[in-house]
This record gives sequence, structure tokens and C-alpha cells, in this order.
Amino acid sequence: MHIGVMGGTFDPIHLGHLRAAEEIYWAFELDKIIFVPAARPPHKEDEFEASAQHRYEMVSLATVYTPYFSVSPIELSRPGRSYSVETLREFRKLYGDESTIYFIMGVDAFLDIAAWKEARELLSLAQVIVTARPGWRLDEVERSMTPEQRHLLGDPRFKYMRVSEITRESVTAHREPGLVLSVEVVSLDISSSEIRQLVKEGRSIRYLVTDTVAAYISKNRLYQPGQKAHRPTEAST
Ligand code: ATP
Ligand code: MG
Repeated sequence: MHIGVMGGTFDPIHLGHLRAAEEIYWAFELDKIIFVPAARPPHKEDEFEASAQHRYEMVSLATVYTPYFSVSPIELSRPGRSYSVETLREFRKLYGDESTIYFIMGVDAFLDIAAWKEARELLSLAQVIVTARPGWRLDEVERSMTPEQRHLLGDPRFKYMRVSEITRESVTAHREPGLVLSVEVVSLDISSSEIRQLVKEGRSIRYLVTDTVAAYISKNRLYQPGQKAHRPTEAST
């Protein structure tokens, strides 16, 4: 099996996440992509944030019509802090060594990865795919890392690919541990923080999120003034 794993806060999930996942799914001929909402990381201190349960529900609603997208509660149900490396270890156990796991992340998230728990180990558990995001130069990812960051990651090699150029042969040829694939997908200039801000100001978020997610936000009055969400006591990364 070829499985994509996409982690994030998804507060809320938006079309930027979904389009990046869709393109990677087809280009790499994956069997499925699992979205993994994280518990609240300590650096996210936005007052208008949604609880883990709401974020999980929204990912479910956003992916309900796509048979090859699913959502895992693995990081929400695990007690204590949750780390991507532990999630990948669990998926590795679940799917076995014969499966290929691709860990999909935007370039902004990848530039922080050296600070994540057991980053080097993470790169050996899954093949990392870094996707484009407006505001960041994907072709400069390698150059923007400091020697120390590269060392922490075990001096990975980088391969830049355009989604349109990916073939079955190139996917197989580049399936090797420690190789980071930078993939130029159509990147939509959408962020969850911008969506939270729009809702707070009472403005439209239509065509930035799926209709199901927009309806859920409105029904549950998320991100609106006076709706301070429950925040779990345990933090995560
Ligand atoms: P926030 O503004 O709250 O940080 P976000 O839009 O960055 O939210 P996250 O949940 O932080 O969303 O991101 C989850 C993952 O999706 C990260 O790897 C991030 O780089 C990626 N991502 C987020 N937005 C986009 C986008 N518009 N296009 C491609 N990838 C994205
Ligand atoms: Mg983000």
C-alpha cells in the first residue's frame, strides 16, 4: 500500500489543504491519504480557536465525499503530548514494512521540522513530500536550511519535482529513505488563520472551505467573538 499522511491543526481545514492532498494523491498513485488533526500545539495561542473535537469533525465533513481521503483521531486520543514521529511509528506498525508512507507537509511546516521531536527518525519512517505554498520558495528549501538544521535531519538529499512531471517510474526511482521530495503543486493562497479572521469579522469564507465546513462553522458559531473554545490541557507538536 502507498499511503499519504497529512498532519495539521486544521483550524479549520480549507481548500489549500485539500487541493495539495488531491494533487499528491494522483501524482504518486496513492491508495489513500489520512488526515491527522493534531492536538493543540503550544505555540498556537489564538483566542478564537476550535476544540480538537470540532477540528476533527470538520476534517471528516471536508473529506466525506472523497473515498480515498480519511481522518484519523490517533493524535487526539493518545494521552499526553502527541508527536508526528509517534504517529508515523504507529502507522508503520499498522501498515507493515512493505507499505510506503508519504508524510505530506507544506514548505512552511517543513522549515520548522528540525526542531520537531526525533526529526531524523521521522525522515526514516516516511518519505517526506514538501508541497508548495504561496509566500515560500519551494526550490530554495534546501538552501534556506542552516547546516545545523540539515545535520539534525541527518543531511537529507532533496529532489525538486513538478507535479506534472511525476511518472510511475520517477516515483519508484525516488523512493528512498532520507530523500525529501519538494513537489510543486498548484498552491492556493489560503490559510486557516485568514479564515478565522474572516469569520470573526462576519465576512464570507465561501470557496475557501467546503460548503460542509462553512455550514459547520456557522452552526456551531466557531471563531466568533465570545466563543472562546475549550482548550485541552495537554499540548502537542
Ligand atoms: P494556520 O494559519 O492556523 O497556521 P494553516 O492554513 O497553515 O493554518 P495548518 O493546519 O497549520 O494550516 O497546516 C497543515 C499543513 O498543511 C501544513 O503542512 C501546512 O504547510 C499545509 N498547508 C496549509 N495551508 C496550505 C495551502 N494553502 N497550500 C498547501 N499546503 C498548505
Ligand atoms: Mg500553519
